[in-house]
Amino acid sequence: MGWGVSKIVILGFGSAGYAALMAIKRRDPGAAVSVIDQKQHDLMHPCGLPYSLNGHVDESKLYQDVFLEKMGVEKIRARVLGIDGAARAVRVERGGREDSVPFDRAIIATGARPVIPPIKGVESALGAGLHTLSTVEDLALIRESLHNAIRGVIIGAGAIGLETAIALRKYLQYVSVFEMRPQVLPGVIDADMSKLVEDYLRAGKIDLRLATRIDEVIAGGEFTGVRSGDEVFDGEMGILSAGFIAETAVARESGIDCDANGIIVNESLETSMPGVYAAGDCISCWSVIDKKSVPVKLATSAYRQGVVAGENAAGSEAIYHGTAGTFVTKVCEIEVAGTGYTTETAKAHGYEPVSGKIKTGILPDYFHGGSEITIKIICDKSTGRLLGAQAIGERGAAERINILSMALEFDLPIDELGRLEMAYCPAVSEVIDPLFKAVEFVRRRIGR
Ligand SMILES: Cc1cc2nc3c(=O)[nH]c(=O)nc-3n(C[C@H](O)[C@H](O)[C@H](O)COP(=O)(O)OP(=O)(O)OC[C@H]3O[C@@H](n4cnc5c(N)ncnc54)[C@H](O)[C@@H]3O)c2cc1C
Repeated sequence: MGWGVSKIVILGFGSAGYAALMAIKRRDPGAAVSVIDQKQHDLMHPCGLPYSLNGHVDESKLYQDVFLEKMGVEKIRARVLGIDGAARAVRVERGGREDSVPFDRAIIATGARPVIPPIKGVESALGAGLHTLSTVEDLALIRESLHNAIRGVIIGAGAIGLETAIALRKYLQYVSVFEMRPQVLPGVIDADMSKLVEDYLRAGKIDLRLATRIDEVIAGGEFTGVRSGDEVFDGEMGILSAGFIAETAVARESGIDCDANGIIVNESLETSMPGVYAAGDCISCWSVIDKKSVPVKLATSAYRQGVVAGENAAGSEAIYHGTAGTFVTKVCEIEVAGTGYTTETAKAHGYEPVSGKIKTGILPDYFHGGSEITIKIICDKSTGRLLGAQAIGERGAAERINILSMALEFDLPIDELGRLEMAYCPAVSEVIDPLFKAVEFVRRRIGR
């Protein structure tokens, strides 16, 4: 095997671990690689969980086996306990016994776990009518709790909370979403944009309780509801969707440096233990805009990071530049997409954000069947630098945000974006695309 590396071990096999393996095999097909994960199947697709709950995705399709043995990859089904950097060995527990797996280079890709906020009663309600959603096992528990339930309670109005609320609405008469911030999708879209999403959710008969902090989960044996201040909201089942926290147990146990956001890595994604890399939800990630820490946990970021960590473990010198945090979610019939900073985050990062927002049809007025899209672009007033963008519409929100994500990735000045020629025919698009209308608007607002 090349570059003097004899064995690479990947700890955790999700998006980041898989991407790392593929990158290693591309770079060095003969590389000796071991993958350690506790799951029965090779891969599980967490992003499909809400869609399996609503019946759109067959549960069995959430698992995927990628025939690691055929690739010449050793699969070790075990729980990783820690890494002994001096002995160059990974300590694992399998079948109740401790074992060790030697390595020359390793990649930690242990993902994230659901946040369990310190709300009174939450611990005793978990598994007894209140559930998180991050595994296929969770799906089975949720389905069980749906029997004879009429009212469901969701704690948290992030993308997963909303996708789950929409899925539960198929089975329950009443679904209430509680969010302590005054808007849905806090931290990823601006408050004015969230109003559009909230309208769609309310039209879809989701009861939104914004700016409502849950003080207690009520469960005398089984979950029966929640309390906020003096108000009690009854429900027969609940979903706790309060975000995700990096799974750093292995790294911390091994003496690898971590901060509040996850495992600390450099631009090569190497940790404080030489020859040990980390990628995916378990790392402390930074923004491509200003290199500052951002709590982004997305499959696409995990995949990109996995590629960089894999290439470097196999002897390359790849650089991870940071994440734009580009996301899309489907809320009822609409796409909600965003990239970069919201206005609030941009301010917190020391910028002077100015935005341009437009609402327009995606097809020419004379063409029937079009739908509307709202696009908001955020720039820094003094430099004109693109900082972020959000788009909401039945069609085409993600594709336009992806273009702006690329502009962020390559630090394209907003003025340059006007040079782009986009494909046009009246059945598909407008000759002056809504994206350009938004770009022109924000350029006028910052005097460029
Ligand atoms: C319900 C849901 C919906 C989502 N929807 C989207 C979406 O639409 N778009 C998007 O971009 N992102 C979405 N995400 C986030 C996305 O799934 C994650 O960002 C992504 O899976 C992170 O990949 P990862 O490889 O870092 O971690 P994971 O995919 O979580 O993989 C980590 C692996 O490490 C293993 N592991 C952990 N600790 C140990 C240990 N000690 N020993 C052995 N194995 C261990 C775990 O078993 C797991 O297989 C969603 C997440 C959830 C839960």
